[in-house]
Amino acid sequence: MERKLASIQCIYSIDDIPGADNIQVATVKGWKLVVKKGEFEVGDNAIYCEIDSFLPIRGEFEFLRKSSYKKMGDQEGFRLRTIKLRGQVSQGLLLPISILLDKIYADQYKALKIGDDVSEALGILKYEPPIPAELSGVMKGGFPNFIPKTDEERIQNLTEVYPNFRKSNFYVTEKLDGSSATFYINNGVFGVCSRNIDLLESEGNSFWKVARQLKLEEKMKESEKNICLQGELIGEGIQGNPYKLKGQHVYFFNAFDIDEQRYLSLNEFAEIMEWFELETVPFVFNDYSIPETIDEFLSFAEGKSILNPNAEREGLVIRNHARTISFKVISNKFLLKQE
Ligand code: AMP
Ligand code: MN
Repeated sequence: MERKLASIQCIYSIDDIPGADNIQVATVKGWKLVVKKGEFEVGDNAIYCEIDSFLPIRGEFEFLRKSSYKKMGDQEGFRLRTIKLRGQVSQGLLLPISILLDKIYADQYKALKIGDDVSEALGILKYEPPIPAELSGVMKGGFPNFIPKTDEERIQNLTEVYPNFRKSNFYVTEKLDGSSATFYINNGVFGVCSRNIDLLESEGNSFWKVARQLKLEEKMKESEKNICLQGELIGEGIQGNPYKLKGQHVYFFNAFDIDEQRYLSLNEFAEIMEWFELETVPFVFNDYSIPETIDEFLSFAEGKSILNPNAEREGLVIRNHARTISFKVISNKFLLKQE
């Protein structure tokens, strides 16, 4: 699922912020963001840019320079991140749709509807922090097309389906802040991938190093099936090692049956982890009924890490036992502390 960074959305509500005269808080899907008073009205359609949008340097975005200027490689731009204004958490940016007038054809402009992705028209990219050399590795090929990439939808984008979720039984794991790792065995070929590429085994590459430490090739070959395991690589040299671990470790969160093209259920996953003696991401709850509102969920996501109680946890990942629903709830407290 490709993330829509900037899309047409309807403004669901606009509310006052206690003690603030010139700004208000708008709700767009499950997101809240601060807007100037009078700039938008409830029911307006506007362009909503999510956090992590990397906006190009253009006159119309210059107002972001002081708060958001950032370099991504050689590229300069403005990166949207979570901020707090007058005690109100603010995530993302609303722009009037008219900003697109000189960027797309008139008939396209007239046909714009809610949900349309306009990131490309605005030159908006996803902000990605630099990747250290031990993690980047040497490419063997693109990410295998027989395995889904790891990704999780944010709860704020699930307002429409959220009420239906309340019927299911969920389990909750801690979301770890590291680097996504994929290991597969397919027709006798063992492979190791980072988030987006299949990696050649090379000296010093962290993903291959842990694969060898964990004897994953031997273990996965034992299963006599084409399978894939996915987890989060964390530890020294990765994302600032917030958990202060020694060495590097993988905590697993997915098992995928390549032949059947499906994720294993929680029970099947737990069995494999036990059999292979691998560690899973920390479990917060095994049986969990989700709260009524997304705002309640967001407060619940805040807390300390199970791996290190001195570290703020990144958030939670919520899944039903059959593993057909999966989404993330990132802690705003964590996001506010981010650079
Ligand atoms: P993000 O890190 O915001 O791109 O969120 C999606 C990523 O979270 C996935 O691609 C995984 O690499 C990672 N992740 C970390 N902890 C977990 C977990 N407990 N369950 C599932 N994914 C996780
Ligand atoms: Mn991550």
